[in-house]
Amino acid sequence: MNAIILLGPPGAGKGSLAESLVREGYTHVSTGDMLREAFKNETAVGLEAKSYMDRGALVPDDVIINIIRERLGDAPADEKFMFDGFPRTLNQAQGLDQLITDLNGVITHVIMMECPDEMIIKRLSGRRICRSCGAVYHVTNKPSKVDGVCDFDGGELYQRDDDNEDTVRNRLSVYTEQTKPLVAYYADKNLICPIDASGSIQLSVDSALSYLNG
Ligand code: AMP
Repeated sequence: MNAIILLGPPGAGKGSLAESLVREGYTHVSTGDMLREAFKNETAVGLEAKSYMDRGALVPDDVIINIIRERLGDAPADEKFMFDGFPRTLNQAQGLDQLITDLNGVITHVIMMECPDEMIIKRLSGRRICRSCGAVYHVTNKPSKVDGVCDFDGGELYQRDDDNEDTVRNRLSVYTEQTKPLVAYYADKNLICPIDASGSIQLSVDSALSYLNG
């Protein structure tokens, strides 16, 4: 198997970039989505994770490594994984290296999405999501046709519990303290591919593809 990592602060557009890269044959693995799903299903992991997520803190590394280990299972040699929101600490990065070695795999690129903090706060505090299909809107940048209602399936739009401004600021400082050191970790391995994520999503997609296909 091989893998790419989408690295960047919350709100840089990792999820949106991932949606596009799925078309290139990558298997999307988002630890945030997995944890939200676990909470919805009221599993022990989901219930434990929720208290961390609500305050914008990181879920403990061992919990995260375990869900990734399960997810990778016995990945076939030709599978291409795309990690979104993982790893987020040095410990997780080392855990991932071990898992990948065990699977005879390799990390080929770390797409580092760069975006200024103030833009992130605006993006996330205005973000709204459809409860039924997961479509993502923004109250000013990408509003739905009818306020609070999804254009695609009429589902109710909601704000993620951790997208309020205070929690977003906390998530940003957690990113700076715990996740940013990964840039040096992967730079040492010559894997960092920086992209400007402050423009349109299409710009991010084009920049990422120029590394992945270039
Ligand atoms: P995300 O959807 O990636 O923004 O993640 C939402 C929240 O889930 C984060 O603020 C963390 O509380 C938790 N989370 C997701 N991925 C991880 C991870 N790799 N390590 C620790 N916590 C995580």
